Amino acid sequence: MKLFNFWGGVHPAGQKHLSADQPIQVLPMPARLHVPLQQHTGRSAVPVVKVGQIVRKGELLGRAQGGVSASVHAPTSGVVAAIGDFAAPHVSGLPLPTITLESDGEDLWLEREPPPDPFTLEPEDIAARIGEAGIVGMGGANFPAALKLGKARQAKVHTLAVNGAECEPYMTCDDRLMRERAEQIVDGVRLMLHALQAPNAVIAIEDNKPEAVARMKAACQSERQMRVAMVPSRYPAGSAKQLIQILTGLETPAGGRGTDTGVLVHNVGTAYAVHRALRHAHPLISRIVTVTGGAVARPQNLEAPIGALVEDLLAFCGGVAETPARLLMGGPMMGQPLPGTQVPIVKGTNGILALTAAEARLEATPSPCIRCGRCVEACPMGLMPLEMSKRARHDDLDGALDFGLIDCISCGSCAYACPSRIPLVQYFEYAKGALETRQRAEQKAKETRRLLEQRQARLAREERAKAEAAARRRAEKRQAKAKAGAAA
Ligand code: SF4
Ligand code: SF4
Repeated sequence: MKLFNFWGGVHPAGQKHLSADQPIQVLPMPARLHVPLQQHTGRSAVPVVKVGQIVRKGELLGRAQGGVSASVHAPTSGVVAAIGDFAAPHVSGLPLPTITLESDGEDLWLEREPPPDPFTLEPEDIAARIGEAGIVGMGGANFPAALKLGKARQAKVHTLAVNGAECEPYMTCDDRLMRERAEQIVDGVRLMLHALQAPNAVIAIEDNKPEAVARMKAACQSERQMRVAMVPSRYPAGSAKQLIQILTGLETPAGGRGTDTGVLVHNVGTAYAVHRALRHAHPLISRIVTVTGGAVARPQNLEAPIGALVEDLLAFCGGVAETPARLLMGGPMMGQPLPGTQVPIVKGTNGILALTAAEARLEATPSPCIRCGRCVEACPMGLMPLEMSKRARHDDLDGALDFGLIDCISCGSCAYACPSRIPLVQYFEYAKGALETRQRAEQKAKETRRLLEQRQARLAREERAKAEAAARRRAEKRQAKAKAGAAA
């Protein structure tokens, strides 16, 4: 298969050797799980259980609400111990609306029958079951998968790109999943193709994962619709827009979506979750997490229930050999700093990274920009990070937008390449947050204006109706008077 190139990118040290050869281990069920109601893009799920209620594994805890949302389910059987804000801060630093579940140690499933043959279902029904299972994009985007599939089918995409690139340094959970559960992933891909009504799927894997490539090729050798593409290892090859460019040579238009090119990207973990939902009627209640970094005693890949705490996973890996200089949820390029270890694993958590001071490069403090242009060379979106950061730093949001803030994928390539160690991505994240706040305020003001206008229109209608009724009454009185006069 002919492959293409993408602009920019960097070559950070992979560090995958720490965990790549560790087979997936199942994390023993913690005594308590803290299942956030908001683990996805869109509106939070609404609790459908009460404190004290006994639930089975896989039972619905929170129902999706509105167009963009995802349901959450019980990762084990037990009793609902609390509903409310979890005391520990989330990665965002904010408390998290959460359902706390106390395990009964039995791990008893709620009995549900999968469809006898999901390929006899209509594409919409497949998507609906994926939605009911609470599946979100597991590559980190956390967008509800059913919605993404539905929109892509309407857009008539021709190719499903199954993302097994895993370009983030240190992360090996997708590699292990492909090596150990290739047939299930391929089954999930077939089901997604049916839901999409698309003719082709390409499973893209970076060339630094030869075992995963071999396993996936073997698993799909009799699938005429599927191919495995070995893509060059260069960060961020696994980012959706760059992957599309590598596979098709097509660039996603500025401000556009990947599906504008006729390609939908889904992670291998999502394909695996789809298989579990359609073949076993299991909702998304666990995921594979890489626990790694120089500070972790025994780096591993763990299958962890959603809602297990970072401290549970670290403890199973022998704890930390030294105090981590940085603790992240996710990889070193796009991961989010964790405020502590009392943070629950969510559907989009691919890794826990505990870095030593040497790994974290904390020794270097930022110095002024020397206008070397390396950030521009590294940016895979063809942006000018130095100009964008200058504007973001001075709260000039429109200026940052003019330089393409909306197209920034926060990949961190620019910051990695910067010799002055300027925290460029932090400025972009700050500006994106400020932009969101501004848009929300504008939306609110627009809504307030609309409600005010509606009220004024209603009051005017009522006034008019009152005046008309009074005029009618006066006319009736006059007529009655005239009739009475004529009768006399
Ligand atoms: S890489 Fe850093 S120092 Fe060089 S131009 Fe960009 S921001 Fe400035
Ligand atoms: S973080 Fe944004 S500006 Fe920096 S390299 Fe990535 S896409 Fe470009």
